[in-house]
Amino acid sequence: MAGTISRRKLLRTGGQAIIAGSVAVGGTPFLAARSSSKSKLPAEGVDYYQKLGVTPLINAAGTYTVLTASIMPDEVQAAVALAAKNPVNLNELHDAAGAYLAKRLRCEAALVTAGAAAALVVGTAACVTLGNESAILNIPTDMNGLKNEVIVQKSHRYGYDHAIRNCGVHFVEVGTLDQYEQAFNDRTVMTHFFNAGEDHISREDWVRVAHKHGVPCFNDAAADVPPISNLWNYTQMGFDLVTFSGGKGLRGPQCTGLLLGRKDLIAAARKNNSPNSNTIGRGLKVAKEEIVGLVAAVDWFLSQDDAVREAEYRKRAERIAGQLKTTATVQTQIFVPPVAANHVPHLLITYDQNRIKITGAEVMEKMRHGNPRIELNPSTGGDPASAGLPGGPNTIVVGVWMLQPGEDLIVAKRLREVLQAAIG
Ligand SMILES: *Cc1c(COP(=O)(O)O)cnc(C)c1O
Repeated sequence: MAGTISRRKLLRTGGQAIIAGSVAVGGTPFLAARSSSKSKLPAEGVDYYQKLGVTPLINAAGTYTVLTASIMPDEVQAAVALAAKNPVNLNELHDAAGAYLAKRLRCEAALVTAGAAAALVVGTAACVTLGNESAILNIPTDMNGLKNEVIVQKSHRYGYDHAIRNCGVHFVEVGTLDQYEQAFNDRTVMTHFFNAGEDHISREDWVRVAHKHGVPCFNDAAADVPPISNLWNYTQMGFDLVTFSGGKGLRGPQCTGLLLGRKDLIAAARKNNSPNSNTIGRGLKVAKEEIVGLVAAVDWFLSQDDAVREAEYRKRAERIAGQLKTTATVQTQIFVPPVAANHVPHLLITYDQNRIKITGAEVMEKMRHGNPRIELNPSTGGDPASAGLPGGPNTIVVGVWMLQPGEDLIVAKRLREVLQAAIG
């Protein structure tokens, strides 16, 4: 396969770079010799999906965690494989990666975390323990003397609340700008904003009021790239901490995330994080392969072009729609969710259930258990599963952005088979 060859070539080139870089260490040939023995082509590898009996699927859903979210591009996979070949000092790697990412992402400081949810944990811990080293050990069970209130809009309570609550804090809910103004007191430690949530209070007002009270604000933008510029939009808007998932649109390792923001808060988050023992983040470890993988994914992502990517997704959606043209009563439409999350073209398929006697949910089941296995977007056939995606019993939603080359036509062929077999 062409992919395998280019990956090997990358690995070989990278291997030589390691040798060149290590000869100087201590003036001994030791590292050089060691690395050179490792620069051989990688072993072929056992297909453990096959060995374990876990059948891979075609992801026509999107960056859903349970579907393993995304596939790392070849150059990211190659960088991960290279990083796996040599030990480093994990603290040095964290610091170097953080400095590199901060520069590339135009913010003061950055930390690679074990996912956006982990970034919520160590970011909140940073706010609670800032300037108080003993608090690092005390949270979340001994909150004596610590600020412990996080202000949030009622409509921004969501499935990641627990990551914040892990730090021993509790939420204070507000609905209006006036209530927000009134909610601050000497226990307020942070304000939290869900970037893809309904914003009754604008981002600008949210930040302005928090800063008037000297309180840091966190923005969870985990699923909110593309566009590429979002990676710096929110820190530049004044949010003190911003997180993005590493394994969603960025297509880095699934167990990584970015925590971006203020230098003092990122330094505090780092103290609360692995590899430091006896911290809230010790279980949220990222390994060298993952840190390097996320840095490589950011490099890859920044080399992309939003318009080119979007045109490609539209082309995939059109290709699938084209294959369904002759199926009775089927209508198709390309749809971009209006909210910040998953802001890419999706294919929306509707049909007359009097002619095609099957529900969207049943189509989804047939696709899931067919050959090959195909996962449609979870909005299919029911209530909207993701913010901004449509739903309904006769609605099929195809997420095209995580499809791999050629899979659009496979999805189209299976969809046509399933729909035509149901024509009554
Ligand atoms: C996916 C997601 C997370 C969690 O991200 P991980 O990287 O999987 O930890 C947090 N917040 C929001 C809004 C998300 O969509």
